[in-house]
Amino acid sequence: MTTVDHRRLGRDLHLFGTDPLIGAGLPFWLPDGATVRHTLEEYVRGLERDAGHVHVYTPALGKLALYEASGHWSHYREAMFAPLEDGADPLVLRPSLCPHHALLYRSRSRSHRELPLRVAEIGDMYRQEPSGSLGGLTRVRAIRLNDAHVFCTPDQVVTETAAALDLIARAHRALGITPARHRLSLPGPGGKYAGDTARWERATALLTAALEHTGQDWEEAPGEAAFYGPKIDVQITDPAGRESTLSTVQVDLHQPERFDLHYTGPDGARHRPVMVHRSLIGSVERAVAHLVEVHRGAFPAWLAPLQAVVLPVSPDQERAAADLAGLARRRGLRADTAPAHRGPLGARIREHRLVPYQLVVGAREAAEGTVAVRLRDGRRLPPLPVKEFCDRAAALAARHTTALWDA
Ligand SMILES: [Zn+2]
Repeated sequence: MTTVDHRRLGRDLHLFGTDPLIGAGLPFWLPDGATVRHTLEEYVRGLERDAGHVHVYTPALGKLALYEASGHWSHYREAMFAPLEDGADPLVLRPSLCPHHALLYRSRSRSHRELPLRVAEIGDMYRQEPSGSLGGLTRVRAIRLNDAHVFCTPDQVVTETAAALDLIARAHRALGITPARHRLSLPGPGGKYAGDTARWERATALLTAALEHTGQDWEEAPGEAAFYGPKIDVQITDPAGRESTLSTVQVDLHQPERFDLHYTGPDGARHRPVMVHRSLIGSVERAVAHLVEVHRGAFPAWLAPLQAVVLPVSPDQERAAADLAGLARRRGLRADTAPAHRGPLGARIREHRLVPYQLVVGAREAAEGTVAVRLRDGRRLPPLPVKEFCDRAAALAARHTTALWDA
């Protein structure tokens, strides 16, 4: 069995790269990798919009005082870069998005009628991972996190947590990801945790109820909780069998208190909301690394950097090929041509073996306005009118399915 390494595939497929002068754990995204990342981020935003989230932007910097207030500075300092001097108020590169979102919630008074308020952002954050542990996209120092914070009443926590688990499962299906297991991450001996035992037990009971609600099996993992609360981690394994966390849902009773968040209840009194932290795909870096390994570069068609390549059999069909690529692009597909002068048809097909749709245009197809479609998995479709191919491929992409064709 060959071991698939996303670092080697990422280099071979021109997805991302690194340079010692930029630094370890700070990869750059090449055009094809950037296309995958952009498409993935847009998919996640669409999924979140449909599930009633609102999207915001918050800065990757904040005053050190903000992280003192959140508890990160006392519980999480070893993973943070040293503060940047800025007079009397040093700034830090944020190690998480939560404190910014808590302040955004607090920026005006909130009524119970607004809850649950689901605030989502795909935002940048930084972690000072030890330089020896850095590599590829799985261990990085500049992290692009898919995150959301659901501000809700205590009564809404189980429903919101279960809904987040459902949304995670939906994203995984679209991406062709099969989780290894669900983990209930609890505090362990010797850890630095904020808050009293009663609060931890309450948060754990809420997470357990949500797991039971979705009928999900899980295993308990002492010592894996966040410093502010327990969490459900959706675990994946890489081809070498190493396990890591991709998606997560956390119940946080700590930060709402630290930031003195409240809402006005139906009784007119002030109440404390709960923060449910949830990430559908975790960091974009780790998600793409996993997708590269799972699919060996053959991404689901909706996510592929190039979705369709048009292959004219001879130079006589170059014009028809260019027209077909143009039509495919107007239908929203990422399409290009591989002209006949680049080599024999078989060689051009092999060169584009990871492209979901290989569209062969010979003399007959050019004359009839059709295309002979070869699917990446080796299937060949009967000749299709070019417009029909474009419409059906675009419709499949819009459905975010892992199926190459729906015949
Ligand atoms: Zn958070």
